[in-house]
Amino acid sequence: MTTTDFDRYFLNSSNEGVKAFQQVASETQQLLSDFYQNNEQAFNGKTPNTIENEINEMSLVSKNGDDVTAVLKEVQEKIVENSIHVSHPTSIGHLHCPPLIPAIAAELMIGALNQSMDSWDQSSAATYLEERLIRWTAEKLQLPSTADGTFTSGGTQSNYMGLLLARDRFCHQQWNLNVKQQGLPPESHKLRILCSEAAHFTVKKSAYQLGLGEQAVVTIETDENKRMKISALIDEVDRLKSGGLLPMCVVATAGTTDFGSIDSIPDIAAIAEQHGLWFHVDAAYGGALMMSQQNRHKLYGINSADSITIDFHKQFYQPISCGAFFVKEKANFRYLAHHADYLNPENDEDDGLVHLVSKSIQTTRRFDALKLFLSLRIVGERNFASMIDYTVQLAQQTARVMTGKGTIEVANLSPEINAVVFRCTSVSEEARNEMNTFIYKKLLHTGTALVAKTKLNGDVYLKFTLLNPRTTISDIEDILHSISQFAAEYENRGITQ
Ligand SMILES: *Cc1c(COP(=O)(O)O)cnc(C)c1O
Repeated sequence: MTTTDFDRYFLNSSNEGVKAFQQVASETQQLLSDFYQNNEQAFNGKTPNTIENEINEMSLVSKNGDDVTAVLKEVQEKIVENSIHVSHPTSIGHLHCPPLIPAIAAELMIGALNQSMDSWDQSSAATYLEERLIRWTAEKLQLPSTADGTFTSGGTQSNYMGLLLARDRFCHQQWNLNVKQQGLPPESHKLRILCSEAAHFTVKKSAYQLGLGEQAVVTIETDENKRMKISALIDEVDRLKSGGLLPMCVVATAGTTDFGSIDSIPDIAAIAEQHGLWFHVDAAYGGALMMSQQNRHKLYGINSADSITIDFHKQFYQPISCGAFFVKEKANFRYLAHHADYLNPENDEDDGLVHLVSKSIQTTRRFDALKLFLSLRIVGERNFASMIDYTVQLAQQTARVMTGKGTIEVANLSPEINAVVFRCTSVSEEARNEMNTFIYKKLLHTGTALVAKTKLNGDVYLKFTLLNPRTTISDIEDILHSISQFAAEYENRGITQ
């Protein structure tokens, strides 16, 4: 066996390569284990300035390569210790999940194998595993056998793909126009996409990236549960049409980012069908309910969607990034297929070789399917269901406990998934925004909890996103106790000033 000067930098058969890999892997494992064993807070509470300075103190590169142990020690002190502890039971701010242990191990394999999902000759076995997981998910969603899908970097990309296919199919049907080749027609400024006012901002972002402008997105008002008002949708489609505009797509949200509200999928599906609109369901958040016997009925009708967004890096507990996009009719992927001679020549597909680049807007792409696979196998479907059901119950219980306090107003009294939006009301209306902002900062900078802050009708509200199945009602009680203390601190501060 020949040796080279670089053996210790890569995985290979030499002792040097193997030893270098094992050292860095085992020291990393030790470092992470120490951190999780000793850390009792969601965040250490340091200010942005302090953390920025600590990061700036580190040297970024070395001349000849620094010692592994020394570098990892610095990483532990400056990065790990200053990170958000996403697996902590009081880290309940965003749609930001604790990652499953098998998925963390899979990340190491994903990096080591470094398969690229664009062409078969860069992802031999990985291609088929991804395809099987896509089919498994499509079956869980009860999509027809004509369905297909692809892994994506997340909901942003999946929503973009849905709207891209919607636009291109519409232009094809309406004007027999091939947008891929010919670009947008002069009438494109008339195209309209409908979604609720609580839909994710990436609907608008996609519209401008697709050359339609944000003006193409018409938002429909929501009811008291933040669900799209169906009568308003019907009126709006009629209004647009009679104004000479061209509604082409409607987006239902299954799990709005703030409230976890689920639009009425069957009603919207019927309107989409009646008016020939592409029906996209953004189930980035709520898609995980498909794992639960108790809760999957909330997604009823999702299989009538033309396209669906699912995020595995939310309530499927996968490390970032991991998402997927589905279409009911795989033929619609033709709108984004491009054949490159060096990667996925057309005749290869005739020979039965699968090149997943044809279904993706990415080229080089991670083998994220591996982590979902390891999780489904090692954790098991039943345990996924229990975790999801538990968090849904916890959110309902949290809303009840909060309401019982008398000084907390809950915006969504019966959460459909696991987000609870609320604010403290112990001071007069005028002081509430300031007080709730004060509480948010106190929780963060004392390391008590990492909660989110959002706005409802212009007012400041706080939010618990209860993805973590290890968060208990007593964790919630503790946070609520701190909140009432900070509220009192705010009130007393007002008096002494
Ligand atoms: C999180 C989310 C998105 C965006 O997904 P990313 O994975 O962050 O790109 C889109 N829609 C909804 C409803 C979401 O909750």
